[in-house]
Amino acid sequence: MDAARFRKAFAILKRLYPVRNWALGRGSFDVLVSIILSQNSTDLVTERVMGDLRSRGPITPESLLAKSQSQLVGILRPAGLARQKVPRIRAVARRVIRDYGGDLNRLRAMDTVTAREALMALPGVGPKTADVWLALVARRNTMPVDTHIHRLTRRWRLAPSENYAEVTTALKALIPPRSRFLGHLVLIEFGRDLCHARHPECGLCPVYDLCDAADRLPRKG
Ligand code: SF4
Repeated sequence: MDAARFRKAFAILKRLYPVRNWALGRGSFDVLVSIILSQNSTDLVTERVMGDLRSRGPITPESLLAKSQSQLVGILRPAGLARQKVPRIRAVARRVIRDYGGDLNRLRAMDTVTAREALMALPGVGPKTADVWLALVARRNTMPVDTHIHRLTRRWRLAPSENYAEVTTALKALIPPRSRFLGHLVLIEFGRDLCHARHPECGLCPVYDLCDAADRLPRKG
């Protein structure tokens, strides 16, 4: 898909998929925990589990460390991989206390490059987690790339490779800074809703005529 077609498709999808910033009103550490927890989990389950955790008090590095490892595993188990995720989250909590006095908001005062490096210096925080946090909490013009966006860029041949940095750079060249903050959520919603990994619902697709995916399915009738 060339740039002109992508921009048309993106404009259509933005109109059809109204998204909201789910991080609004949440604490910056709470959001980071949500992003880590959401890996290998669905949004619905992540939200339910985070709600359960939040019902026991505000999610801060201190409140997480006040709970035992087994208590946290019990609460977070529905989100999957709790035995791996809990030690990671606790390690992040310890580092946020050590490096930022427990206040992750300190990163919001940094420029984007420095804040991204600081996030990625936290245990187990990779470029995607850092970019999502920067977009939703600090309203920076990062372009987070998850599995759905990876699939779309592969189908539409927008990036030269599957490498995270190359995909995000290619998308930044196509999506203006002001549209990236919520734009990445639009692409995720479209990927979830219709452009599935297996059996994409091409017959219902609003950008069918713009799509040149090799695995685009023919429309019936
Ligand atoms: S036509 Fe099919 S493959 Fe192309 S974007 Fe739509 S759902 Fe995805």
